[in-house]
Amino acid sequence: MKADIIQELSDAIGSQKVLVDDALQDRYHHIWHMDQPLRALALTLPESTAEVSVIMKICNSYEQPVVVHGGLTNLVGSTETASNELVISLERMVQIEEVDERSRTLTAEAGVILEHVQEKAKEHGLLFPLNFGAKGSAQIGGAIATNAGGLRVLRYGMTRNLVLGLEAVLADGTVISSMKKIVKDNSAYDVKQLFIGSEGTLGIITRAVLKLVEAPNSRTSAFVGINEYDHVVEFLRYMDAGLAGTLSGFELIWKTCYQGLTTDPSPSRPPLPYDYNYYVLLEGLGSDAEKDQKRLEDLLEKALINGMIQDAAIAYSESDLNWFWSIRENVDSVVHKCTFDQHFDISLPIPLIGAQIAAMTQKLEMVEGVEHIFAFGHVADGNIHFIIGKENDGDALRLKINDIIYGPLQDIGGSVSAEHGIGLHKKAYLELCRTSEEIQLMNHLKRSLDPKNLLNRGKVLDI
Ligand SMILES: Cc1cc2nc3c(=O)[nH]c(=O)nc-3n(C[C@H](O)[C@H](O)[C@H](O)COP(=O)(O)OP(=O)(O)OC[C@H]3O[C@@H](n4cnc5c(N)ncnc54)[C@H](O)[C@@H]3O)c2cc1C
Repeated sequence: MKADIIQELSDAIGSQKVLVDDALQDRYHHIWHMDQPLRALALTLPESTAEVSVIMKICNSYEQPVVVHGGLTNLVGSTETASNELVISLERMVQIEEVDERSRTLTAEAGVILEHVQEKAKEHGLLFPLNFGAKGSAQIGGAIATNAGGLRVLRYGMTRNLVLGLEAVLADGTVISSMKKIVKDNSAYDVKQLFIGSEGTLGIITRAVLKLVEAPNSRTSAFVGINEYDHVVEFLRYMDAGLAGTLSGFELIWKTCYQGLTTDPSPSRPPLPYDYNYYVLLEGLGSDAEKDQKRLEDLLEKALINGMIQDAAIAYSESDLNWFWSIRENVDSVVHKCTFDQHFDISLPIPLIGAQIAAMTQKLEMVEGVEHIFAFGHVADGNIHFIIGKENDGDALRLKINDIIYGPLQDIGGSVSAEHGIGLHKKAYLELCRTSEEIQLMNHLKRSLDPKNLLNRGKVLDI
């Protein structure tokens, strides 16, 4: 059977686009595991929606399970493969087909790297606001499949809010295409939303129409030191109101993490001393550089005088902006401090974050084998990341850490995934944040769109 399906795929799309055996040796399932050769029946490299469709038609007839590979930056094991699975990689679908300045849209194939979308929009005086640390590797199809969030959700929403049109291939090869540029379309169900955030389990995204916004003329930023969590919440509201709709980023970094991000092996120096419990990194995107800078300075001065904040460092140049934001984006510098690392991206109601993270940290500190606890996140979205450094990668320690972090979420109306998704790693915890009726409906959807369970089998749902 293996020989038959490989032959059929090679006949259909060309043997140079079907990699098998030794050709898989220098392929991998994740950018952080490039030293681990890919286990798979074969890896296919389609160059068009039609080729993805033909691959799926063949896989459907052989009941061949498939794993979809984008930029391989996910943090939940969702691109891992078994040796009997076939990989469809979108890496050759890299055309930016059009930038329509008047509609403010960009149409691209799914394999385009996020950073290339950002650069192309910029060439046209526009902005694609989706932004996160893995932008140089993550593909637009992967970002859509995971409904990625990142650093500017506060102002522009998640990926879901930035997709106007979508094309996807179903498990049986059917192409569902709705590549419209319109913002509003209430003609029955918004089918494209099904594929956004479904982590490749319902269809393979092949093209998208992305929403662009006017590029800002000014970017302001500051690092702020605060001692009380309640003041962080107060400061968020104060800055949001004071910056009159231009606040675009409000990142919170706990002291230990701030130290980790600004000491070896990080190349970055700390903009503020290590004297505060919390560090806020904020960003404003506006239209008048001078006025925006002055407004930021005035607001910070007042906040310092009335004791809401304890310290502030303002970015005065492009290099300051790069310096500040590289501290937040280069989370690798804390990952490198860990012997083994475990990542979390939980969602919590904003007012409860301070006390909950403190309680979790206290419990984690008591666990033998936990070496580092780094907490940071997009606090304006209620999304906190933990990176836990630990001495071994065993199940017992992993589960103990999971229990401490996921345990309280159900009672406080939180979520085990704010933005990274469920993949393989969080499947067992889905029921903490979704009702059984919701999970049942998800299972129905999966069965009706993919009755043979071919796409990313065993990921997200237990069917
Ligand atoms: C340093 C770093 C920082 C990050 N920061 C953030 C952050 O701030 N916010 C955030 O939301 N995420 C963040 N992430 C994780 C984020 O989810 C991914 O980076 C990105 O969205 C996934 O894109 P990808 O192309 O790498 O997809 P992959 O990792 O290749 O795939 C992710 C999932 O989508 C599926 N998939 C991929 N392409 C397609 C497609 N075309 N059609 C259907 N399914 C597909 C895969 O099967 C898999 O299930 C970060 C990751 C890293 C490494």
